[in-house]
Amino acid sequence: MAQFRNFKMVSYVVYGRGSFNQLDEILAPNRKANAPMIFLVDHFFQNKPLVNRIPLRGNDKILLADVSYEPKTTYVDELAQQLKDEFGNISGIIGIGGGSVMDLAKAVSLMMNNPGSSADYQGWDLVKNPGVYKAGIPTLSGTGAEVSRTCVLTGPTKKLGMNSDFTPFDQIILDPELTANAPSNQRFYTGMDCYIHCIESLQGTFLNEFSKSYGEKALELCQYIFLEKNAWDDECDDKLMMASYAGGMSIAYSQVGVAHAVSYGLSYLLGTRHGIGNCIVMNHLEEYYPKGVAEFKRMVEKNKIDIPSGICKGLTDEQFEAMINVSMGMKPLWENALGKDWEKIMTREKLRLLYEKF
Ligand code: NAD
Ligand code: ZN
Repeated sequence: MAQFRNFKMVSYVVYGRGSFNQLDEILAPNRKANAPMIFLVDHFFQNKPLVNRIPLRGNDKILLADVSYEPKTTYVDELAQQLKDEFGNISGIIGIGGGSVMDLAKAVSLMMNNPGSSADYQGWDLVKNPGVYKAGIPTLSGTGAEVSRTCVLTGPTKKLGMNSDFTPFDQIILDPELTANAPSNQRFYTGMDCYIHCIESLQGTFLNEFSKSYGEKALELCQYIFLEKNAWDDECDDKLMMASYAGGMSIAYSQVGVAHAVSYGLSYLLGTRHGIGNCIVMNHLEEYYPKGVAEFKRMVEKNKIDIPSGICKGLTDEQFEAMINVSMGMKPLWENALGKDWEKIMTREKLRLLYEKF
């Protein structure tokens, strides 16, 4: 591996309240003859005004994405097949939604031009061909999926993204208006994904000045939003959207850490969603991130959020083993968190005791 990561970024970025209205103009030069644009829209927006603002042309199509569960490889394959059967070629795919829909849009774009199943490409640099044009429009802020070079999918044997230079969006539209009125619990869980990215990146062994500069800015924005503000307003939406972007940029050049490595196990076995799973885990990580966890707990209290507990009660030894296997498999995350000798620090026994706390 090269000594310095040379990473592919999103090609075009537009930011601002109302920037969604520029979508038609932005898409125009990317349209191909007789090939529609596909708008993959979070099912939350079914029958909501946003759907009527989508600039449909020709045989463009809106598909509602069912994100009751976080994206699976089977769902990606099904959507890509459906588009190939119906249209042959498409001009591009626009994902409008939370991290789940954005990841789905990236994955479907790639699968329009790569053979086989998306499960074949879960890993690092396995994707062979660029996908079709893809744009991401977040409606929740925090995951950093809008800027990342991965799209996290649950497959037959693992939960892992299609991590490649072909994965980042060609365009993102960051319009904080679209995140207004998200339920406070959801907003918090997804926002904490960003906060946790910052803590894991800033306390990680992979840290350099690039990651640190973005991570510190994102952290400062999260602290302002979740500790200093007394009520949610437009300013919070504006700032959290930029925190998500900066947090994503921070981990682009470092890595996440313990909370993510452990919460991946929960989501693989129990289907726990990413944001809430990270919160459940973070609540018990004093040993690894003492300052971050104390501050996280103040944020939970101030924002009056419920963090579920007891989710691992009654699990069998095999189930604990399955979670431990998934978690231990996230080697770069552990190495970032605990250093090269991480296996001496985080043993299977220790991880089991941690899972038993949730
Ligand atoms: P989500 O996309 O899973 O959505 C959570 C819920 O909120 C869904 O029910 C959705 O319909 C709803 N929703 C979306 N927008 C809404 C709005 N404006 N108002 C009300 N409800 C709304 O949540 P998320 O936290 O944004 O994303 C989590 C996903 O992102 C996971 O699948 C995770 O694996 C992925 N992720 C990806 C990356 C990456 O780099 N690619 C990084 C972190 C997380
Ligand atoms: Zn995350």
